[in-house]
Amino acid sequence: MTTSYPPSYYAASANPAPERPALQGEVSVDIGVVGAGYSGLSTALHLAEQGYKVAIIEAGKVGWGASGRNGGQIVNGLNASLEKIESNFGRDRAAFVGGMVQEGNRTIRRIIKDYAIQCDLKEGNLFTAYTAKHMKEFEQKQALWRTHGMDDHELIDAEGIKKHVASDVYHGGMIDHSGAHLHPLNLALGEAAVVESLGGTIFENTALLRQEGTNLHTEHGVLRCKTVVLCGNAYLGKTVPALTARVMPVSTQIVATEPLGARADELLPTDICVEDARYILDYFRLSADKRLLFGGGSIYGGTDPSDIRAKLLPNLEKVFPQLKGVKLDYAWSGNFALSFSRVPQMGRLEDGVYFAHGYSGHGVTGSHLFGKILSEAIHGDLTRFDVFASMRWLPFPGGRTFGAQYSTIGSWWYGLRDRLGV
Ligand SMILES: Cc1cc2nc3c(=O)[nH]c(=O)nc-3n(C[C@H](O)[C@H](O)[C@H](O)COP(=O)(O)OP(=O)(O)OC[C@H]3O[C@@H](n4cnc5c(N)ncnc54)[C@H](O)[C@@H]3O)c2cc1C
Repeated sequence: MTTSYPPSYYAASANPAPERPALQGEVSVDIGVVGAGYSGLSTALHLAEQGYKVAIIEAGKVGWGASGRNGGQIVNGLNASLEKIESNFGRDRAAFVGGMVQEGNRTIRRIIKDYAIQCDLKEGNLFTAYTAKHMKEFEQKQALWRTHGMDDHELIDAEGIKKHVASDVYHGGMIDHSGAHLHPLNLALGEAAVVESLGGTIFENTALLRQEGTNLHTEHGVLRCKTVVLCGNAYLGKTVPALTARVMPVSTQIVATEPLGARADELLPTDICVEDARYILDYFRLSADKRLLFGGGSIYGGTDPSDIRAKLLPNLEKVFPQLKGVKLDYAWSGNFALSFSRVPQMGRLEDGVYFAHGYSGHGVTGSHLFGKILSEAIHGDLTRFDVFASMRWLPFPGGRTFGAQYSTIGSWWYGLRDRLGV
C-alpha cells in the first residue's frame, strides 16, 4: 500500500522529492533506523557523516509523521522546564540539560547551512502571556536560563507586543531572539536528501512489522543491521511492545488561511512565530507565501477531530477578530508523543537496539539533539546518552486506553485553569 501525505499546506508546497521504493528482499547495513522523521533523519545523517552505512525504513513517506506536519517552530529547550527537570531528576541533571538548551537549534541551523536546505527559515520566537502569572513565569524562565549562559530572552509588555502581533488579547510576552521557524516538511525532505547523498538509503512505504534483535522485518523484506534505532515516536503504535507504555499519542491540529498579502504584514509585522503560555495553547506564524498557519488543541490518544476547521476557527478569530470570515485553504492533524514527565526519552532496549521519542509537543529541536546524541553513543561515546538513558520514566497509569482518559481529565482541568486565568 502506498501512503500519501495528509492534506497540509506543507505537502502542497513541498520541494520536489524522488519516489523511494519499498524494501524488497534482504539488505544488510551497519545502522537500521525506523522512521524518517527528525529523530531518525538526524541519527542517520550524523552517522552517515561519520562513514556508517545507514538505511531508514519509513512506513509512509519522509516526514509523513509529526516532522512534516508541525508548527515549524524552533523552540529552544525541551518541553519539560529546567525547574521540573531539577525537581524530578536533581540539580546535576538540570545543569547538564541546561548546557544544551540551544544545541538542537544550532544543529538544525548547521545542517541547513552546510547542505543548503531550502526550508524558509525565519528568525524569532514570541511566547505570549494571557495573565500576570504567565508573565511571572517568563521572568523566572529568563532568570533561570541566564544562569545556564543563555541570554536571548527579552520581556515585553502589552504595548510592546503590538509591534509583533496585531491582537488585543495578550498581557505581554517574551521573545527568544535565537528561536526561529521554518517549513518543517522541506527540512525533513532536505535532510533525507543529505542522508542519501552521504550513501544512505531510505525505503518508503516500508513499515516495521516485527523487530527481532537487530533484524527489522517488513512486508517484503528484512533489514539486517549491526545496530538498530527505533524512531517511530507517536506512530509506532504497539509494534515494539517494550516502548508502548512509555508514551501516549496526542493529536494537535493546524489550519492554513488563504494567502493574505499585505494583511499578513499587519498581523505579524516582524514575521516572528508565536505560541502562548497556556497549557492548551495556540501557536501560529506566517508561511513564505503569507498565509497564517494557526495551530492548537490537543486530543489524548491521538484521534483526529471530525471538523478541524470548526475546531480552530473560533480560536483564530479570538486572537485576530480582523480575520473573521477568512478562507481556510488547508486543515490537518498530526500526532506527537507525550511522555508522563514531558521529558523526552532515549535508551537501549537490548544490545544494539536504541530508541528515542516523547518530545511532548516541542520536538523540532529535541529530536535533532537526540539524533545527534544517539549517533555519539553508537560511535562509542556514551557520555551524554547515559545521562538521558538513566532518567527514570513513569508509564501512563492504566496503559494507553485508561491513560488517555486520565490525560483527558487532566487536560480538561488545565483547560479550565487556562479559562480562569489561574
Ligand atoms: C501538528 C503538530 C505541531 C507541532 N508543532 C511543533 C512546533 O511548532 N515546534 C516543535 O518543537 N514541535 C512541534 N511538534 C512536535 C514535533 O513535530 C515532534 O516532536 C517531532 O517532529 C518528532 O519527530 P520524530 O522523528 O521523533 O517523530 P515523527 O516525525 O512522528 O516520525 C516518526 C516516523 O516514524 C514512522 N513510523 C512509525 N511507525 C513505523 C513503523 N512501524 N515502521 C516504519 N516507520 C514507522 C512514521 O511514519 C513517522 O514518519 C508538533 C507536532 C505536531 C503533530
